Amino acid sequence: SPADTVRALEARIAQVDPQIHGYLSRDFDAALKLAESADVSLPLGGVPIAIKDVINVTGEPCTAASKILLGYRSNYDATVIRKLRAAGAIPFGRTNLDEFAMGSSTENSAFGRTNNPWDTSRVPGGSSGGSAAVVASHEAFASLGSDTGGSIRQPAALCGCVGLKPTYGRVSRFGLIAFASSLDQIGPFTKTVRDAGLLLNVISGRDPQDSTSLDEPVPDYTAQLGRDLKGVRLGLPREYFIEGVDPQVDSAVRAAIKHYESLGAEIVDVSLPNTEHAVGVYYIIATAEASANLARFDGVRYGHRAPDPTGLLDQYGRTREEGFGPEVKRRIILGTYVLSSGYYDAYYLRAQKVRTLIRDDFTKAFEKCDAIVCPTSPEPAFKAGDRSDDPLKMYLADIFTIAANLAGICGISVPCGFANVDGRQLPIGLQILGKPFGEAQLLQIADAYE
Ligand code: GLN
Repeated sequence: SPADTVRALEARIAQVDPQIHGYLSRDFDAALKLAESADVSLPLGGVPIAIKDVINVTGEPCTAASKILLGYRSNYDATVIRKLRAAGAIPFGRTNLDEFAMGSSTENSAFGRTNNPWDTSRVPGGSSGGSAAVVASHEAFASLGSDTGGSIRQPAALCGCVGLKPTYGRVSRFGLIAFASSLDQIGPFTKTVRDAGLLLNVISGRDPQDSTSLDEPVPDYTAQLGRDLKGVRLGLPREYFIEGVDPQVDSAVRAAIKHYESLGAEIVDVSLPNTEHAVGVYYIIATAEASANLARFDGVRYGHRAPDPTGLLDQYGRTREEGFGPEVKRRIILGTYVLSSGYYDAYYLRAQKVRTLIRDDFTKAFEKCDAIVCPTSPEPAFKAGDRSDDPLKMYLADIFTIAANLAGICGISVPCGFANVDGRQLPIGLQILGKPFGEAQLLQIADAYE
């Protein structure tokens, strides 16, 4: 029964989470109450789903892993939560992340890092590292995360689960704490591709409260699963098979491509010539949007407020000084700089133009293929502490995931084998990128591999 499920989860979490630290908080009593009245005839009836701590759930904290939101509790449900409830699911637990979803390792959380379940001295990826780790360590059946530049796909790859970033506009962002509004999308972490389809069925669709959500029909995303791959063309982007990719990752991805060939898919070469600019463009656009979005955290409306201010500016300044961590401050400063008068044209405007070129690259590539296959991450999980002092090195962890957000297309990471590192097995992720609103075929292709 759903209540037994919640109790089993409670036992598992008590046993495992002290080593993993995937959850920031959870309320078993509230979940049990919902479980007792769950309607199991609904599509997700009685299934607890873990939620990244940037998505609002009525009555629960929503910290974005930041001290600035300590004490805040949501007074409304995000649209994805409303939809999960309508499908019978139980939003359960708040998962750890890099503060305000800024990072690739979950080390930027103000509340301590999350550990990779395969080797706890390594990172789970990020920013949705908690959401990936709880699914991989069987502390959740599935979870929701958000992906601005890879934050679902990269941790899914490093933890060995399935992570889906839907097309921009497929899922409502209402109730998601905004990082970079033109890039953010909510999506699921699951153990199987079918489960990802089941969750996408529920959370997709136009929402009047998010004007960027589109009125595209929502098909049954599980309907194409199991179909064969005859006639399906998979593109290999030459710019993604480069030096610097870990040899074990490279060979696992090549083996996956061979496997696709044996399943009847046709492999074609494609080129995404502007790939080399993606990381630079992303860190201009994402920081610019973040600097504007994070202006609302001023000590007046939400969470933390610096005590005994001498005036309004002092209150703003000290609240933000005390509340934000170093990476968030770095990005606010960068974003403010690229938007400032005199620099706007040189950085922000130029980045927007190159973004269009990156999007055009994908449009052209999709004339030759149905989906693109490549590594999700250039390497398996790295050691905690290895990159936390070197932002540039950390930014390169997303080199293969960022372009999809700039182009607005959908993408998924599925496990495709293991690397042997220091006598341990570390999961490797295969990334498949699909056409805008092509999630049904994307899932079909991912499922065929699985
Ligand atoms: N790692 C990237 C960043 O730090 C992407 C994060 C994300 O997708 N939220 O911005």
